[in-house]
This record gives sequence, C-alpha cells and structure tokens, in this order.
Amino acid sequence: MIGSVVIVGGGTAGWMTATYLKAAFGERIGVTLVESEQVSRIGVGEATFSTLRHFFDYLGLDEADWLPKCAGGYKLGIRFENWSKPGEHFYHPFERLRTVDGFTMADWWLELGDRSMPFDRQCFITTALCDNKRSPRMMDGSLFAAGLDGSLGKSTLEEQRAQFPYAYHFDADAVAQYLAKYGTDRGVRHIVDNVENVGQDERGWITHVDTKSHGKIEGDLFIDCTGFRGMLINQTMGGEFDSFSDVLPNNRAVALRVPREEATEMNPYTTATAMSAGWMWTIPLFRRNGNGYVYSDQFITPEEAEQELRDAVAPGRDDLQANHIRMRIGRNKQSWVKNCVAIGLSSAFVEPLESTGIFFIQHAVEQLVKHFPDERWDPRLMRDYNDRVGHVVDGVKEFLVLHYKSAQREDTPYWKEAKIREMPAGLAERLELSGSHLLDDETIYPRYHGFENYSWNAMNLGLGNIPPRARPAIKHLDPANARREFANLKAEGEAMVAALPSCYEYLASIND
Ligand SMILES: Cc1cc2nc3c(=O)[nH]c(=O)nc-3n(C[C@H](O)[C@H](O)[C@H](O)COP(=O)(O)OP(=O)(O)OC[C@H]3O[C@@H](n4cnc5c(N)ncnc54)[C@H](O)[C@@H]3O)c2cc1C
Repeated sequence: MIGSVVIVGGGTAGWMTATYLKAAFGERIGVTLVESEQVSRIGVGEATFSTLRHFFDYLGLDEADWLPKCAGGYKLGIRFENWSKPGEHFYHPFERLRTVDGFTMADWWLELGDRSMPFDRQCFITTALCDNKRSPRMMDGSLFAAGLDGSLGKSTLEEQRAQFPYAYHFDADAVAQYLAKYGTDRGVRHIVDNVENVGQDERGWITHVDTKSHGKIEGDLFIDCTGFRGMLINQTMGGEFDSFSDVLPNNRAVALRVPREEATEMNPYTTATAMSAGWMWTIPLFRRNGNGYVYSDQFITPEEAEQELRDAVAPGRDDLQANHIRMRIGRNKQSWVKNCVAIGLSSAFVEPLESTGIFFIQHAVEQLVKHFPDERWDPRLMRDYNDRVGHVVDGVKEFLVLHYKSAQREDTPYWKEAKIREMPAGLAERLELSGSHLLDDETIYPRYHGFENYSWNAMNLGLGNIPPRARPAIKHLDPANARREFANLKAEGEAMVAALPSCYEYLASIND
C-alpha cells in the first residue's frame, strides 16, 4: 500500500499536485508538502488553458470565489501582434471551427471568404468579443455559450467533449496561497523548510528527504516540484533531460509587473507581440498587467531585452523591478523514475508561448491519479505514464515550432534564423501538407497534446501560411449553406457584443 506522498516544492506545481491528490484520495493518502523560504517561486505563469476549469471543478471550487481572490481575469484566446507584418493582429480563440456539408468554415473561407479581412474574424465569433473587450459572462453570471455552464464535477481532460470558451489569467503567487489554504484545510502537512539532502536505499529508491530544521521526512512516493533545478529527478535520480534548444532557441525571459492606474478597461485575452529577438506577453490581471519578453540570448543581451520591454510597456517606470529568468527548455526523457515523479518545471517546459506550463501540471496530476501505484510498482503503469506525459510535451513542441516557421516576419537576424532552423520531422511533413489543404485530426500531432485541429489551422492561417486555394471538392458543392453560416457567425458575434458587459465591468462586480 502506498500511504504517503512527499512533495518537494510549493509553487503552482506543488500546490496543484497536493490539492488534487487530496481531492482524489482524501484521507486514504497522507500528503506532505515541503517548500523552502530561501528559494523563491518562479513568479510567472499567469495565463492558462481553457481546460483548467476541470481542475477547479474537480476540487469543488467556485470561480466566483477563487477568481477575485487571485486577481483573476478572463482569457478568450491569444491575440498575436506583429508576427507577420507590423500593425497586423489575429486571434487564436478557444473556439472550434463550425462544419458545413462536411467541410470546416476555414475550408469554406478559402473558397468564399473575403481575403481583405482576416480569416479569424470571419470564422469565429469569439474574435468579435475580443476586439470589443467583452466578458464571457453576463452581469447575472450566466455564460454566453449555451449549454457549457455548470460544474463538471470530478471530470478529467479525457472527458472534455466541448470546447469551453475561456481560460483564466491570475496572480501565480495568489493561486499558490489559495491552494495552500485549501490543501492544509484538508489535511496536507505543510512544512516550510529547506531540503538539504535526499536519502536513497541501495537500489536508488528515495527513502526520505533531510530538511534543515524539521529533520528527516519519510515517504513512499516523492514528487519533485522544485522547478527548473529538478532537485530530485535530475540531481538525485540522474534523470536524463532532452533539450529542445535545437528547434526552440529562446532561453531567457525578463518579466515586469505593471500596475494599471486607469483600471476601467481590461482585455479578455493574452497578447503575444513579436519583438526584435523573441516575443512579449501581456497578461491582464484585475489591477495590473503581467508583461514579459521571451528571447534568445544569442541575439540580444538581458540588459537590451529589459530596455526593449520597459520601452514597450512601462516607459518612465524605472521603479518597477524586473525579474530575469533563465529557462530550461525541453523535457525529462522519463518524468517518473523509480519512486520519484517530477511535475511542473522540473519535468518539462516548452516555452511560455500558448501558456502550456500549468496545463502540463494539470495533465500530469490527472495521469498520476490514474496511474497511481501500489506496493508492486508495476513498471507498465510508469511506462504508460511517461509515454503520455512525453507526448503531451512533444506535441506542444511541434505546435510552438510551427509558430516560428509559419510567421512571415523576417526583418531581424532572429526572425531570419527562425526560417532556416531545424524542425521536428513530423512538423516538416505537416507543413508540407498544409501547403495543399488544411490540417485535420489525422494530420496534426497524432497523440493528445491539448491542441485540436482548429488551433493548428488558426495559427497557420493567421500567420499567413495559407494554402493558395480551397480543396478542389468545394467547387462542386452548393455554397448556399456555407454563405448562410458566414452570415450567422457575423450576426451572432454582433448580438453577443451588444448583450455582454465589458470584461472589466463584469469582473468589477465580482470583486466588490
Ligand atoms: C518565463 C516564464 C513564463 C511562463 N508563463 C506561463 C504562462 O503564462 N502560463 C503557464 O501555464 N505557464 C507558464 N510558465 C510556466 C509556469 O510558470 C510553471 O509551470 C509554474 O509556475 C510551475 O512552476 P513550479 O511550481 O514547477 O516551479 P517554481 O515556481 O519554481 O517552484 C519551485 C518550488 O520549489 C521549492 N524548492 C526549490 N528547492 C527547494 C529545496 N531545496 N527545498 C525545499 N523547497 C525547494 C521553492 O521554494 C518553490 O516553492 C512560465 C514559465 C516561465 C519560465
């Protein structure tokens, strides 16, 4: 019987893991979380995936309670600025493409669409809500997308049938604190101390961790949530790390927390703006923005990156403290080794583009519960876990490389190099195919990785990698139904913009 779990690390990964295990197993498993006061959390990780709702519902938490306590906001998608031409923008929304007579609206757009207008504004309705800074909820709290509201209960990513229309922005430290209270209220033993040493038996299995002031902490299963240092999985177990720097060169970030003094407006989306040697995130929280420049230090120094970021988002605010971060991009070949499982940055990180870090944590904790071991430590459970966790990361890697390959921008050495850099073999095949027709479920990355075909097509078309013509079959079809659907999309978008409050107005009402 595996009765006790020891988690080292109290960042988003540590607390999401502790609370999820408690929600799943209750008193049947003892959970201890040790976190150091001397090693700070990464302090970023404020934009999420639409799937995160399953996590909060699993814990039985109500959005109206936790979101205001975590300075939260809504994210209907990501707005990409200047990735192809200066001044141009498009959205990657959380919205599936509708289908008419067997072809998606993006296929129909290639034949019937107005090429003077961006594809995303014609094929999705969420883009109208983004352009007009609308909340996805009415003032009475009801959701604009009918049939998708209400708690999902203890459901997991595998059960996600519909595309939920939004994700969250939140203050990462506030979320860790909120979850810490939830966890300790439900019996998580919380120890604030530094782990100085990790004890192993003769087979290399972890027996305990030694802390500075609380002595030895023993357990059956040890979870490494120590961030990029991978104290247990890499430093102790010697787990091999597979770097992605051959295909994704960004290795640093510099972040700034910028107060919004005139906080009467708020964007309901993350913005990803292309910069001279990388890109910048803007994440609107209730009273401030999180900003950060993700870059490769082959092309720009940390000082230059900080200056470019300050000039863009906080001119004259030299009082704001910049947080410089080195990123370890890649994944452990195996995130579960013997009785040690790495979750969070200690396991894998691709890069902040598309906000997948917290999604990886959510996926990993769900899979850990599904593959939870007993005293036999069945290697097939561990193998299957490692396979799934590996594929989620590898699929995201391919999808993110596509962003750089399909972007039309080539005005600086960084963007020129992006075009000639290596890419994963599977992606090369997919891009070759997408020159002829749009990708579908059979031609995107074939294993679960959190992105569906609409995302791959939204990015390709938005970035300007557009097949020259529609599938030949479309010419033989009656276009009447598709034309009607384009008109419906436009009318529904306009009606929603008229009916919904602004994002700020709604959030202000739940922050009262
Ligand atoms: C630049 C950047 C931007 C990002 N943006 C996003 C985003 O927008 N969306 C998203 O989903 N993800 C994002 N991520 C990823 C996200 O930040 C992480 O997935 C998330 O914060 C989890 O971090 P963590 O808990 O693994 O590590 P950390 O936050 O680094 O926490 C590590 C913990 O380990 C503890 N610790 C370390 N050593 C010891 C020791 N010896 N003894 C005891 N405790 C110890 C520390 O005290 C700390 O509590 C981003 C990451 C980076 C680098």
